[in-house]
Amino acid sequence: MRRARAPLAEPFTLLEESALRVVCPGCGHAVPVDDEARCVTCGSALEAVLGAARGPPPPLPPRRLTRAQRSAILRPMRPTHYAWGTFFLHAGALMVPVALGFVWPLLLQAVLFMGMGALFRRASWPVDVRREQKRRLRALVWGLPAAAEITRVERQVVPTLEGGRRVQLDYAFAVHGQRIEGSLPSPHVLDLQRRPRERVWAVYVPEDPDINALWPPGP
Ligand SMILES: [Zn+2]
Repeated sequence: MRRARAPLAEPFTLLEESALRVVCPGCGHAVPVDDEARCVTCGSALEAVLGAARGPPPPLPPRRLTRAQRSAILRPMRPTHYAWGTFFLHAGALMVPVALGFVWPLLLQAVLFMGMGALFRRASWPVDVRREQKRRLRALVWGLPAAAEITRVERQVVPTLEGGRRVQLDYAFAVHGQRIEGSLPSPHVLDLQRRPRERVWAVYVPEDPDINALWPPGP
């Protein structure tokens, strides 16, 4: 597991696990949720309250995501570097016709700019990160819904790890009785206030449930 033994070498820290609390329908106390989802004070079942906190289920696929939602998912690891890469790439491309038409020595510089731009873009948005983001997007648009539960909330200490992501949410759900675990980086500081055992919705691709995401997507 990713649990930290040497805190300095670890990009994540596990949050203080203050328990998730809900208001018990039986006695009206705000009580922590235990494994059986029963009130510690009066013994009432808390499952209904927890299920209601999950919110409305995801709509049927294909789901339409807003532009902001898409760009929050498909996002370079280092957006500033990526923007510089794009700038150099375009600057280089703009120099090519000038170099060909008038000033031949400019061609070398144009090629250098374009090469530098391409390198910057690639380094700031690695292929595997982009692939993972596309898989998540596919699950959000085409995936089937599943009732899920947050299993772990971690604060991200190294801020550049995935483009300003602050929080890592781990969650679990079941597909045909098989437990599937997923994990989602989130840029929202508010997600730090989420707690293990919180009921949420997940969406997964039926052919490959390892392609999954939490619903609804931010922001
Ligand atoms: Zn109670």
